[in-house]
Amino acid sequence: MSKRLPTKSSSQNVQDKSLFVSDIFSSIQGEGKNLGKPSLFLRLGICNLQCTWCDTPYTWKKGQTDYKQQTIESIFKKLLNLKKESNNERVRSLKPRTSLAKQPFLPPHGIQNLVITGGEPLLQQTSLTPLLQEIFRSKEFNQKEFKKTKTSKNITVEFETNGSIPLLPAFKKAFKKQLENGTISFNISPKLKDSGNKPYKLQLYPNSILKFVYVDKNSEKLILDFLKKHQVEIAKNSKQSRGALQKQHPLAKNPPVYIMAEGTTIKEMEKKYSAILKFCMENGFQFTPRWHIYLFGNKRAT
Ligand code: SF4
Repeated sequence: MSKRLPTKSSSQNVQDKSLFVSDIFSSIQGEGKNLGKPSLFLRLGICNLQCTWCDTPYTWKKGQTDYKQQTIESIFKKLLNLKKESNNERVRSLKPRTSLAKQPFLPPHGIQNLVITGGEPLLQQTSLTPLLQEIFRSKEFNQKEFKKTKTSKNITVEFETNGSIPLLPAFKKAFKKQLENGTISFNISPKLKDSGNKPYKLQLYPNSILKFVYVDKNSEKLILDFLKKHQVEIAKNSKQSRGALQKQHPLAKNPPVYIMAEGTTIKEMEKKYSAILKFCMENGFQFTPRWHIYLFGNKRAT
């Protein structure tokens, strides 16, 4: 277990070839546009914000941190093994809350979606670059063996980010193609006043959705004010990434806005659902549950 944040004095070489990792696991994406999709998850340590209701404090909170430095090579191997193996055994060991989660969920060609989350994963984009390059190069992650349909199936990568860290020029250069064709996408969850953080400059990325946490009725005004304040840059960004987004989600507005209840138990979240649904219908937003909590409860690495 590491309790230290990396410092500037850490060797750049070591950092370039390793990442601070809290968890690597496979599960079902429980929220947002890929809800229900079997996915690999890489949860990175370290965050630049401090949300009062954060459900992953072990990625950043003093006294609770739990992440280790792992080499790119070992992370790649772990992801590949998870992609290939059936995770039914693991799912059973988690004692899922519903029989739904006991069904096998390994797709015929292995898991094809990688969620990179945190913490704030874009803090480590320099070290993520060689890992993603390796993944996009790898035959195992990019199959061309759908014999019947003669189609290829490549890995997609989804970042879960708070939208405060700009993409570095080197990252944009390395993944120009994937950022253009939508292979890399971003779930931006801006943290508003009700998260306890100071306002920060919003970063927008290609192929993004916006996902807001609904804490209570006051969140409605905060969300609407936020969207109004950023409407020009959001519209500009949407126009730029319209092609790739709509290829993935033909019915998607640009960018789709999702609303999700704050809470770590079903009871806590369900108390907010009727207000959230009304808010969504009035404003053309989409509701997203946090399905993993229904399947597994608030367990780490699910
Ligand atoms: S941005 Fe995310 S990981 Fe960071 S403190 Fe907030 S909820 Fe937690």
